[in-house]
Amino acid sequence: MARKQSDDPEARAEETLASLNIRSLPIPVEKVAKGLGAQVRFSPLDEELSGMIFIKDGVPIIGVNALHHPNRQRFTISHEIGHLVLHKDMITAEVHVDKGFPILMRDAISATGTQQLEIAANRFASALLMPMSFLKQALAGKSIDIDDEKSLEALAKKFRVSRQALEYRMRKLTELG
Ligand SMILES: [Zn+2]
Repeated sequence: MARKQSDDPEARAEETLASLNIRSLPIPVEKVAKGLGAQVRFSPLDEELSGMIFIKDGVPIIGVNALHHPNRQRFTISHEIGHLVLHKDMITAEVHVDKGFPILMRDAISATGTQQLEIAANRFASALLMPMSFLKQALAGKSIDIDDEKSLEALAKKFRVSRQALEYRMRKLTELG
């Protein structure tokens, strides 16, 4: 009997990494995209545009703003991979464009349908870049202190993510208990 695929972005991110046998940091996001059959293209875009994803002749194409910081590009690529894994129908129907810094979007019960998709893609991206098991390992029983600048910096470097993305992830973990 086939295992039912979970809709949980966290679980889907873990499954994605496991299926591609990725076990080391920093998570090679371009390799993940490639492993899923997608192409990643960097081009200079307007500052407000982070990236986009669409399917052309059956091949998913991820566009990334070449002018953004590499950490932000990694998050953008992961966010678009999230759409590919979670929302294939949406990106098959039309080009999906992401503006602004998606991590800033908070979960909200009142979120519209479109926002729900973005929140899900962000959760997927967070989990892909900072898998729970790796975070736990990195913290190795140490308590999470979001105000400890130095260790946050070191941790962000290890995962090659922005401080902002790491703080967001840590807050989520704290909320989960
Ligand atoms: Zn998006």
